[in-house]
This record gives sequence, C-alpha cells and structure tokens, in this order.
Amino acid sequence: MSRLNLASRVEGSHRQEKGYALRMLTALILAQAIATDAFLDRTRPRWEQVSRQLWDFAETSLQEKRSSALLADLLEKEGFKVQRGVGELPTAFIATAGSGSPVVGILAEYDALPELSQKAGEASQNPLEKGAPGHGCGHNLLGTAAVAAGVAANQARLERKLPGTIQIFGSPAEEILSGKTFMIRAGAFKSTDVILAWHPSDQNYLEKGKRLALTVSDVEFFGKTAHAAASPWLGRSALDALEVFEHAMALMREHVLPTARIHRVIKNGGTVANIIPDYSKVQVWIRDLDIATVDETLARMRKAAEGAALATETRAKVTVLGSVRNPINNDVVGQTLQKELERVGVPKWDESDTAFAKALQKDLKMPEKGLASEIIPYGPAHGSTASSDIGEVSAAVPLAELNVATRALGTAAHHWATTSCSAHPLGNKGMLVAAKVLGASTVDLLGDPAAVAAARAEFVKATQGKPYLSPLPAGAKPVVF
Ligand SMILES: [Zn+2]
Repeated sequence: MSRLNLASRVEGSHRQEKGYALRMLTALILAQAIATDAFLDRTRPRWEQVSRQLWDFAETSLQEKRSSALLADLLEKEGFKVQRGVGELPTAFIATAGSGSPVVGILAEYDALPELSQKAGEASQNPLEKGAPGHGCGHNLLGTAAVAAGVAANQARLERKLPGTIQIFGSPAEEILSGKTFMIRAGAFKSTDVILAWHPSDQNYLEKGKRLALTVSDVEFFGKTAHAAASPWLGRSALDALEVFEHAMALMREHVLPTARIHRVIKNGGTVANIIPDYSKVQVWIRDLDIATVDETLARMRKAAEGAALATETRAKVTVLGSVRNPINNDVVGQTLQKELERVGVPKWDESDTAFAKALQKDLKMPEKGLASEIIPYGPAHGSTASSDIGEVSAAVPLAELNVATRALGTAAHHWATTSCSAHPLGNKGMLVAAKVLGASTVDLLGDPAAVAAARAEFVKATQGKPYLSPLPAGAKPVVF
C-alpha cells in the first residue's frame, strides 16, 4: 500500500467517524425534539381548553387579570418559579425553570382587542356581545402555545438533564404596544440569552424585515368657546384647527417615503354644533421602515400642528404615547425555528377546516383559497407590516419570530374573522404546530451553547454593541390609548 493510499484511508476513516458523530448528534436532537412533540400531542386537549378559556375571557390591554393568572398558575403547577407583576404591570409575569446558561426565553401574549367580539367558528360577522372585546389578533392561541412549549421543553430538560434555564415571559398590553417596553425597563430580560416569539397568521414563515417602526401620538387643540350663532366672532374653534391639521397631513402624504403609513382617528371634535368647540383631539399613528425615519415624519407632524394652531389662533399640544422600533430578526434563532417548522410541517387541515376558511373568504369577498399548505422558505422581506413591541425586545435580546397559519389565507389580524378562527379547530391546529416548533427549538438551543453564542455575536454586530435605550420618557406609566 502506498503512503498516499494509507493517508487517504486514514483521512477517510476520520471522515466516517465525523459523519457518525454528526448522525448521532442529529438523532439525539431529533429524539429531544420528538419528545416535546409527543408530550404536546398527549396533552393537546388541555391546551385547547386553556386557549378557549383565554378566548372567553377576552381581556383587553392592562385588564388581563384572569388570563395572566390562568397561565401563571399553570406554569407554577408545572414546577416553574413565577414572579407576578413586573415593573408597572400587575398582569405581567416571568416564569423560570432550571438554572445557569444558556437562558432561553419564550414570549407569551394574551390581550384581546376592543369591539372584536364574534361568535366562535361563525363565517359571517355575528358578535357574541355587540361592542365587546374579542381575540381578533389570536393572542389566546399565542399565549397558550408559548406556555405549552415552555412546559414541554421543561419536561425534556428534566428527562435529559439538559443544562440551562427556560423563561416564559407573560407580556401583557401588546395591543397598546407597550407591555414589553415597560418589562425591559424593569430589567425583565437582563439575564436572557435568546428569545423565541411567535404570532398567529394566515401563513407559515419566519418574520424577516417587514414589521414597521411606529409612534403613536395624541394631537390636541385648545381654542375658545362661544355661541355659534349669537357671537361666533368671539370663538376660536379647536375643530377648525383640527381640520387645518388634517388637511396639512393629507397633503404631506404625497411627500413621504412610499414605505410610510400615516393613519388616524378623530377622538374628539366637539359635542354640539351650536357651541364652538374649545377642544379637539386626533390620534395619529406614524409607521415606517425604521424609527429614525418615523421620528423625522413626527417632527414634520409637529410643524403641521403648530401651523394649524397659528392659522386658527388656537394652541396645539402633541403627546407621544407609544413608540416601538422595527424588529431586528436574529438569523441564528430564526434558522433554528425554521428548521423545526420544516420538521414539524404545516397544520394538518381537514375538509371542515378548509370549508370553514372558504366560507369566511366568500363572506369577505376574497379569493376562496382555503388555508396555507406550505412553508415559506427562510429569507428577507417576509411577513407583515404591522408593528409590535417585540421590536423593543429585539433591540435588547437576540430574537426571532415564527408565524403559523391559524386563520384563512388572506384574512387579516384585528378583524372579527380572526376572532372566529381563534376559537375554531383550525386555530387550535396552528397553535399546536407553533407549540411544537417553539418547544423543540428551546430544547435545541439549551443543548447547543455554541448556537446561543453565535446568536449573541450576531446581535452585538447588529446593534453595533450599543446598549438598549428606552423610548419611554422618565416617569412614564402604561396607558390605554
Ligand atoms: Zn397580535
């Protein structure tokens, strides 16, 4: 045998050993992952019950007392140590299991939306109670899957004696875009290495670079009241000021980037027509690709308010109520979730799920495409342009956000159709997929400190090592707006 042959045979056997080790590692990871899947399949009725309970509670931002207690109690019974109330938020909690590093966190949300009440599983608008709140963003599924994943991953951690810590963050008030911002300020995420998040959706994918930064502001005008017929010359109308402001903003929309979104509701335009209104209020939401661009538009909006006040001899006041940046999507965490999403696969719809989705689409005059049956490959520019306070968390901890189909294709969040799907078997199927992906990914990351270190390194690079700066003004308290 020539020396060359011997060398290549030795190298070949090394390669075989390496291949064997890799296969064993893959098999081990797969076994761990499947353990969480099996646990979740076994306990499925329990999670469906929890989700339905949250759906029935339908508590809006900062009111989520029963929803928060239900999830926190459950985690406590499952051996998690639970800290109730975080910072200014009585309905926030942090549930912790295990010790040491790595520390893997999962975000749970559970707030509902005003006026989105809808009968469960009905394919046309039919509120359960007119004007009442409803889970029109599917946070009942979101909170339940996060907690289920944490419990499943903790079982696997104990069985396999894995190192590290699992944290479930009970994050209230997402719909007013501030719960997590207050939690960060209270130091909630200080010891967390990576964060897994998910959101109910109409498709299956990893969010990547689509969510927008946002500021929410109240613009108020203060004028002088007078009798509208007897002495209008004595009055200075706050409604006039609001109208001039609205016109200026409408003209400005032509001169902002195509990525900008500026929307508003008039909160107060006076009470009776024969009294000159001395007070008016409009709430403006400005969104764009990043917070710096949003802030530029905000500065222009302030000028429009001042100009309107000048023109009508009134006074303007702009109050920023909330601010969230666009999320930084961590690729290491995102690829971990994508890999598990591909392993678990899309929700297994049956005929009645598809029929229900099509009935909804028909009612909404949308293409009757049914339900998502594929996984979108990992890549940039995927997702929704909606904003979320997870943007703030992503600037403090490496984070990635999974989306799983829990509603009909093409339907939107913040809609009665989503309330309907979130208490339908098809919503539960999506929720189970999300729980499996999050549970298995947690186990993957606990067993792979190198991946966690890589996620942190990527995060440091993305944030240029700058510490997180809160957008909250000093002394800010959470408010419903
Ligand atoms: Zn949501």
